[in-house]
Amino acid sequence: MVCFCFLVDQTRKVRRSKPAAGICSRCGGGASVADMKTATRFCCVPFYCKSWRAIICTFCGAVLRSYH
Ligand SMILES: [Zn+2]
Repeated sequence: MVCFCFLVDQTRKVRRSKPAAGICSRCGGGASVADMKTATRFCCVPFYCKSWRAIICTFCGAVLRSYH
């Protein structure tokens, strides 16, 4: 099932975000609370979509904490 991997892709989008207290442990940038949306596609057809909230770094985009 090697070829399966190439047909599936996942996109992560930040729908909206606002500044939050805290700093990134990776780069020291500012953190923000973001509403995330993850869409998984199979052969360019979306079949799974998930909304979640996370604290992300505004500088490098690292997910510092997630609330599922
Ligand atoms: Zn960072």
